[in-house]
Amino acid sequence: MTDLPQELRLVTAIPGPKSQALAARKAAAVADGVGTTLSVYAAAAGGGVVVDVDGNSLIDLGSGIAVTTVGNSAPRVVDAVTAQVAAFTHTCFMVTPYDGYVEVAEALNRLTPGDHEKRTALFNSGAEAVENAVKIARAHTKRQAVVAFDHAYHGRTNLTMALTAKSMPYKSGFGPFAPETYRVPASYPYRDGGVSGPEAARTAIDLIEKQVGAGNLAAVIIEPIQGEGGFVEPAPGFLPALVAWCRENGVVFIADEVQTGFARTGDLFACDHEGIVPDLIVTAKGIAGGLPLSAVTGTAEIMNAAHVGGLGGTYGGNPLACAAALAAIETIEADGLVARAREIGELALGRLRKAQESDPRIGDVRGRGGMVAVELVKDAAGTPDPELTKQVAAAAHLRGVIVLTCGTYGNVLRLLPPLSISDELLTTGLEVLESVLAETRA
Ligand SMILES: *Cc1c(COP(=O)(O)O)cnc(C)c1O
Repeated sequence: MTDLPQELRLVTAIPGPKSQALAARKAAAVADGVGTTLSVYAAAAGGGVVVDVDGNSLIDLGSGIAVTTVGNSAPRVVDAVTAQVAAFTHTCFMVTPYDGYVEVAEALNRLTPGDHEKRTALFNSGAEAVENAVKIARAHTKRQAVVAFDHAYHGRTNLTMALTAKSMPYKSGFGPFAPETYRVPASYPYRDGGVSGPEAARTAIDLIEKQVGAGNLAAVIIEPIQGEGGFVEPAPGFLPALVAWCRENGVVFIADEVQTGFARTGDLFACDHEGIVPDLIVTAKGIAGGLPLSAVTGTAEIMNAAHVGGLGGTYGGNPLACAAALAAIETIEADGLVARAREIGELALGRLRKAQESDPRIGDVRGRGGMVAVELVKDAAGTPDPELTKQVAAAAHLRGVIVLTCGTYGNVLRLLPPLSISDELLTTGLEVLESVLAETRA
């Protein structure tokens, strides 16, 4: 909703009685494997707030995991989807196609890094798009192996579980995993002793050459800033060195920009920061203002390697999702959300770095644009403190601020505010986070 008062307002305890009643019904009806961060049931959302069924107005610093980048129920998205839902809801693009799909493909070909000839295919979820990027890379190279990185997150389907690094909760007990996937070290400036980007790339490439062999390798897949793994931004030069090696060796370089894409990092795509041009780029989350849509976009020659009928899916590029994506892209461009993400980053990083000066438990404050992280540690050696992280997030939730955690060690607070949040509301949210941090200090 667009006219929601932009305020932090708590009228019950968190969660309130109506949310608690719904939580009891959830426990009796929904599989336990589907967890929730806060047991607060949403009734409306927009701008920078989520209003719950008890009438509490919470500050949204999560965007439903980097999805509602243009805001929840953003006006253009609402209008476009409303018009589309009245026209037709589904025909299946593989049966009788429609212009929205083509228009989204044209937009992605225009906006993604590089001005070479591109093609796009649409899917439903990030994981599904990652799977398809690997299919395409294999069809193009006629090779099988795929390399992913430490701390990587690529989804919850079988192949993407294999590519994902962290066992609990994503993989544990769900094997066997897809074969021909390999893992190499990433660049993690806070934890790898400041190894330079090119040096870290050399280590990864050495392992690939010795243990996989370039001739067997279809693709290298990486998040330009790792998301679930802890908002890890590689040292400068790491990604360009990997891209260069992939080019020299006929390996498809896949950028997984499911979390970092669409203005989130203060560039339209995180690859733009160092000017790298991936062969294939995978997008989802922020692409369609909250509707499920994902895409693989890349070099025409590679994208066209899969035979006719080899790519698709019943719902891929659903007309409602395409209408939403076009409206979201228009919103990003018309409202200057790339620049807005940078402002949000400056505001948040500035405050949090100030807090870090007097709090040794804040090991690292990092991020770009609207993707900001605080890594909490126990000591100067950087021992991760997942307990404190959980405690801070839970206390922030009780105070009405939706904040998420992430990281291989579970010790990273992550902020992904909708770019429609006001400075005032963001500041209030950060003040709550800072006071919660202060209160947890013995
Ligand atoms: C969320 C995410 C995925 C998976 O997307 P789903 O839509 O949940 O399948 C893949 N890669 C990255 C980097 C992500 O953040």
